[in-house]
Amino acid sequence: MDSSSNGRQDRGYILSLDAGTSSVRAILYDSFGVAVAMAQRPLRLGFPQAGWVSQDAMEILSRSIACMVEVQVESGIHSDEIRAVGIANQRETVVVWDKASGQPIADAIVWQCRRTAPEVKELLGAGYGPLVQERTGLIIDPYFSATKIAWILDHVEGARARAERGELLAGTVDTWLIYNFTHGAVHATDYTNASRTMLFDIHALSWSDELCELFRVPRQMLGEALPSDGDFGRVSSDIFSHHPPIAGVVGDQQSSLFGHLCFDAGMAKNTYGTGCFLLMNVGREPVLSTHGLLCTVGIAAGGEVSYALEGSVFQAGSVVQWLRDELGLIKSAEESAEVARSVPSTGGCYLVPAFTGLGAPWWSSDARGTLTGLTRATNGAEIVRAGLESIAYQSADVLRAMEADCGMPVRELRVDGGAATNDFLMGFQANILARPVVRPGAAERTALGAAYLAGLSVGYWQSVDDLAARQAGERRYEPTMSDAERKELLAGWDDAVRRTLA
Ligand code: ADP
Repeated sequence: MDSSSNGRQDRGYILSLDAGTSSVRAILYDSFGVAVAMAQRPLRLGFPQAGWVSQDAMEILSRSIACMVEVQVESGIHSDEIRAVGIANQRETVVVWDKASGQPIADAIVWQCRRTAPEVKELLGAGYGPLVQERTGLIIDPYFSATKIAWILDHVEGARARAERGELLAGTVDTWLIYNFTHGAVHATDYTNASRTMLFDIHALSWSDELCELFRVPRQMLGEALPSDGDFGRVSSDIFSHHPPIAGVVGDQQSSLFGHLCFDAGMAKNTYGTGCFLLMNVGREPVLSTHGLLCTVGIAAGGEVSYALEGSVFQAGSVVQWLRDELGLIKSAEESAEVARSVPSTGGCYLVPAFTGLGAPWWSSDARGTLTGLTRATNGAEIVRAGLESIAYQSADVLRAMEADCGMPVRELRVDGGAATNDFLMGFQANILARPVVRPGAAERTALGAAYLAGLSVGYWQSVDDLAARQAGERRYEPTMSDAERKELLAGWDDAVRRTLA
């Protein structure tokens, strides 16, 4: 390592803040892209009514600052060794605050919150779906920010009038943090976050006046939208005396896409957490999905923009938790790989974990889970295996839909997230896709993507080739299954899904 005699690097560090939904983490990266120190704080979620999800915006802010300060102090580095700060954040969640006092006027409404379902139903009924998809790449849904901002303006007394007078500001979590880190000097977001608000024209790369009017969000509440490697000001000196630049800002899933170095069209990543998030780089032009996928700004850096198709699998790691906690078939998530390998196959059994319906490309909110192909001989290990395999089948379905939408094949799938550590699952994923699955040495990509963006932006790293040279220790899973076996298994899965939908 190019470290000096005192064990530190002369080149300093990049600090990445991963402001997630259940926790915030600050990670220091050295010039090899290696995480050398980390501080983490949990975040609380509020559930004020069935289907509603909120968070305290001040808690997000104070715990973010606490993590940033802690990682610097505990690692023993000086604040002037932090060359730049990157932010990767939970997307779609909104904060509305008073411009004069800086105080939020309501709790943040979290991406999972369904409170604006009635407004969304009305907009869909009025036929706005195609217009919104054409401008934003999104499907009108309570998930995205627009109706959440309008909800706050409609439900906090006097808020709408104040917003129209220019007294209130709005933003996603990145915008809220940047505004506060810079003491109100910068009110901005990046294109990837903006593209999740349902107010951003992904072709023109600017806020859409037409959509602001449709969703009743005063345009002046929104900050400036910049590329992810833009100039987002400097962290104020009461956090870091040396006030490093905020030079990388990106939505968490796009950050993972960047962290996996999926810079070219046809490259894709899958993050296997509680659910799965798949993103595929589709190149320089947006691709509007006909399979219920989203089109979003994927990468906006280095003077170029690439678009991505995005799809998610609702139940992934949660299936493993279900096998462990509800069925008691495994003692730990890790044990699932060994148990699955203890049988040669599922014995014709399929689990379709439609616990909350089925997402892309099936889209059925009424569907519920099924176990098919059971015989008197079916055993627990076969059900565990069917559970793990279901994660791979569902991911393959999303990937197939992406390929059908953009007419481009994915050459290999890059993976991260908690369940991507499962070797059985990754091997099966490669087999069922008939393509290699690649897991990088350090599986955590979300914080790394924002660090890469910030580091490239300030010249800490010279180029994306410089980054590629620093990716060490990846594990490749090559497909080994015969075409005939794969076809038979996929036919069985398709049949099980058909029964589930029926
Ligand atoms: P999230 O960010 O959604 O909280 P993580 O990336 O932390 O998710 O991954 C946690 C999920 O991964 C849990 O649902 C857990 O059941 C699953 N998981 C963790 N380790 C394994 C494993 N070895 N095999 C299968 N699933 C696992």
